[in-house]
Amino acid sequence: MQEIKIERTTAPKAKPTDESKLGFGKIFTDHMYVMEYNPQQGWHDPKIMPYQEISLEPSAMVFHYGQEMFEGMKAYKCEDGRILLFRPNKNIERANNSNRRLCIPEIPEDDFLNGIKTLVSIDADWIPTRPGTSLYIRPFVIATDPFLGVRPSNTYKFIIILSPVGAYYASGLDPVKIWIEDDYVRAVRGGIGEAKTGGNYVASLAAQMKAHDEGYSQVLWLDGVERKYIEEVGAMNIFFKINGTVVTPMLNGSILPGVTRASCIDLCKKWGLPVEERRISVDELVEAARTGALEECWGSGTAAVISPVGHLRFEDEVMQIADGGIGEVSQKLYDTVTGIQTGKVEDTLGWTVE
Ligand code: PMP
Repeated sequence: MQEIKIERTTAPKAKPTDESKLGFGKIFTDHMYVMEYNPQQGWHDPKIMPYQEISLEPSAMVFHYGQEMFEGMKAYKCEDGRILLFRPNKNIERANNSNRRLCIPEIPEDDFLNGIKTLVSIDADWIPTRPGTSLYIRPFVIATDPFLGVRPSNTYKFIIILSPVGAYYASGLDPVKIWIEDDYVRAVRGGIGEAKTGGNYVASLAAQMKAHDEGYSQVLWLDGVERKYIEEVGAMNIFFKINGTVVTPMLNGSILPGVTRASCIDLCKKWGLPVEERRISVDELVEAARTGALEECWGSGTAAVISPVGHLRFEDEVMQIADGGIGEVSQKLYDTVTGIQTGKVEDTLGWTVE
């Protein structure tokens, strides 16, 4: 593992005073982590420095062909003062899976984790403590060769920035309305859907705007070929409880393998619920909603942890789920996962890292 050179800020910024107004991703802490890559030295020279602008040539490859990878995870401050990361190795593993798909050199796992831990501890005073708040961690890699040809870059920057974020729900869980998109598609198998990269998110914007205009908060994507099978939500994986069985789309190459998704599956199995990772068609879903077999639906992701879905709309059919309220499994998953993340529920699965 490489030693990180640390340069502390001499001009610390004022920290937010009202933690009820943090929102998401608007405020950044005093420091950032940067590590460079070139073919001669590999990943080298990790540094922590004051949070600042970066300078790149306009020809830097990331601006033209989108060769970039990002991750998203959180640090939580417990009541006893401990700072916990939730399954960081899952994010690091996923980052390197994304890197491989995007022809970006893999980042040594120990440097990656050490970078996160060191940066979070240097900016620990920025971690909010109000219930539901946390410190969002955004690691990302960008291609920096000044070159306009289409090929993998030779040089890269790996950067980690931190952002104190507010509670996703102002008061308890709040069911969301989801739009099932049958026109635009997000990703196809063999494409980059399972990598966490900007291209997937820009592909989603037009449908997201359409859903917002219709009064829905997020889009649920169908597969890109037959437009028949359920994939995932804009920034969440999706779960259904149908006739007592928990069902979620299997990882097929076009959806993001969520860390929260894996945690939901593990917990449901531990609680003795039948869990199926399989293909699920929108027709099966509509039928299950019509007959009352669809008992619950929730999204899983780092931002909200669990988002109960109260309404799903597909074409002209509006499906109300769990009477538009919060299902039992959704609530239990939310309480358990957030409890483990914040040190309030015993971490018998060894998911947290101090
Ligand atoms: N799918 C997409 C497209 C996402 O952006 C996210 C958020 N990272 C997820 C699923 C959920 O993943 P995780 O549970 O790791 O946050």
